[in-house]
Amino acid sequence: MKKSYEKPKLVVFEHPLISHKMAIIRDKNTSTKEFKESVSEIGALITYEITRDLKTKPKKVATPIELTTCNVLNEPVVIVPILRAGLGMVEGIINIIPTAKVGHIGLYRNEETLEPTDYYSKFPDEIKNGLVLLIDPMLATGGSAARAIEILKKQGAKRIKFVGLVGCPEGINKLQTTHPDVPIYLAALDSYLNEDGYIVPGLGDCGDRLFGTK
Ligand code: URA
Repeated sequence: MKKSYEKPKLVVFEHPLISHKMAIIRDKNTSTKEFKESVSEIGALITYEITRDLKTKPKKVATPIELTTCNVLNEPVVIVPILRAGLGMVEGIINIIPTAKVGHIGLYRNEETLEPTDYYSKFPDEIKNGLVLLIDPMLATGGSAARAIEILKKQGAKRIKFVGLVGCPEGINKLQTTHPDVPIYLAALDSYLNEDGYIVPGLGDCGDRLFGTK
């Protein structure tokens, strides 16, 4: 039976802290160190916003004064960065969800089919019953993200959220048509994809800027 979904969800965060850090990472003169730190921090800020619906359960806690009831997380969280740029957002997310598990997906472009194909994937068991945060900073063509979601779903993931820094209409359309059930969360929505595959104005090659290559 065909599933029907409400309009696919797209949220672009307009928080002053996020905009400020976006200005830092867009600047071509930003150092590798500051670029890496800011990408990680934006990852944490976005995650704070998008985990409001995580399930919790009550837990009795003895404060120094008396026994009280608190709420603690009751749903696993799995972070899945797409290699390699996705790695840049993982640390910030782990900092605020230390119990999160991390899976990985590595994709390359098959020169014959031109399709993104996985060369590496490894996931924790929690992928089946937890919230899966798929991380790819640049939602460019959307091809890699769409393929990654296909892989996650095959592994049994049921609750997936896509988390990126910058998106463009091409990538968003691709994701929303292939996986309308997966909400997209971004720090910025840019104009278009140029003929070299870069988002405009974007921030350049995110992987190169994170790892100081090139
Ligand atoms: N990947 C990047 O790193 N940057 C872009 O602009 C597009 C894809």
